Amino acid sequence: MKIDVSEFAKPCDCGRPHEISVRGIWIEQGAIQRLPGLMKDSGWSWGVILCDENTYRAAGAAVQALLPSFGLVTLNPENLHANEHGVAMAEQQLDAMEQAPQVLLAVGSGTVHDITRFIAHKRGLPFVSVPTAASVDGFVSTVAAMTWNGCKKTFPAVAPVLVVADSDIFSRAPHRLNASGFSDLLGKYTALADWKIAHAVTGEYLCDRVCRMEYDALRVICEKPEEIRAGGVESCEQLMYALLLSGLAMQMVGNSRPASGAEHHMSHLWEMEAINPHIDALHGEKVSVGLVLASGVYHRAAEEIRRGAYRLRGPVEVEMDLLHRSFRDKEMLEGILEENTPNPLENVLPDAIEKAIPEILRIIDEIPAPDALISLLDRAGAVKSLAEIHLPDSIAEQTEHLSPYVRARLTFMRMLKCFVFEKDVFQG
Ligand SMILES: [Zn+2]
Ligand SMILES: [Zn+2]
Repeated sequence: MKIDVSEFAKPCDCGRPHEISVRGIWIEQGAIQRLPGLMKDSGWSWGVILCDENTYRAAGAAVQALLPSFGLVTLNPENLHANEHGVAMAEQQLDAMEQAPQVLLAVGSGTVHDITRFIAHKRGLPFVSVPTAASVDGFVSTVAAMTWNGCKKTFPAVAPVLVVADSDIFSRAPHRLNASGFSDLLGKYTALADWKIAHAVTGEYLCDRVCRMEYDALRVICEKPEEIRAGGVESCEQLMYALLLSGLAMQMVGNSRPASGAEHHMSHLWEMEAINPHIDALHGEKVSVGLVLASGVYHRAAEEIRRGAYRLRGPVEVEMDLLHRSFRDKEMLEGILEENTPNPLENVLPDAIEKAIPEILRIIDEIPAPDALISLLDRAGAVKSLAEIHLPDSIAEQTEHLSPYVRARLTFMRMLKCFVFEKDVFQG
């Protein structure tokens, strides 16, 4: 199946131009067979394939057989991360080649893509994405999420020009990877709710078409989660399609608003290791747990709001004490303070929230309750609890209070700081 990307760039009722930089997306069995033709059509006679030793076995070798004249960079997967070391390892091998490539091919899942995307941007080269697992929604991202000298950073990077997703390859990925992609996608339930609530209260820009696109994709993949667990080709293709769509949604809007809300902020907080030791979970696994926690808080808050058991206050200032207590590392604290300048709650007044209450309740109703989410995640064989990512239950409440500060973005989790409830809606 070829996805017609021009469809997404069409004029939209939201009034903003939606720019799509990906030229073509293929999701089908045997998709990599198209590579020689696609390279020829694009005028690339010499390129370099980037993979790690695992993805070389899964797909890199087959890609190399199809493009025998292309160079190959194989990275050692042990301790391979999207950081300055990963980039240096890849560049060393690239620089040892006789010729500078015309194009880079990323054959892998998250890390190989971020490294390739970063180098492609640095060298002004186009890159082609060959995903080996339906593990994240970032394949068509325009930014690279890197850890640079120990700090998490997002760098401007290039989106792939082409995505060639071969379901014979990614449906056979280790189950944990595709389950993690399922979780990353399910996280859109709270991400979209956060966006819509912010829009309802502050008038922040929102595109209905982008939201609809994402809800449609969510609906399809929530129908048969067992088949994703079983590695069924068709359902894995649907998952890959939905993940790529989520990436396109970010391109259409120009930032990660449609794909990242309270659930991702929790994942980012744990990655900062400020209140917890290092955890070895995949991106989607952390999002999974964040989603279940956020849904719980949102539904409990909605219940209290319905009972009228709340009052509103505001504008609410940044909780400096909490931040100083929680982020002991000076640089990290500075980064957090930067994210909160200006304070996203600065102009959020009680009146505006009160007026939007019926809409807020309606939006929260669209998020599946924690039990429903846990059941879906369970059926897909995905992670659903703190224990599974080796974090204690006692971290939940602290996470809920602190995580809204990790990004300069208004979520309902952040807005809850304007509510005073009769009964505690947080975990504890
Ligand atoms: Zn739009
Ligand atoms: Zn994500």
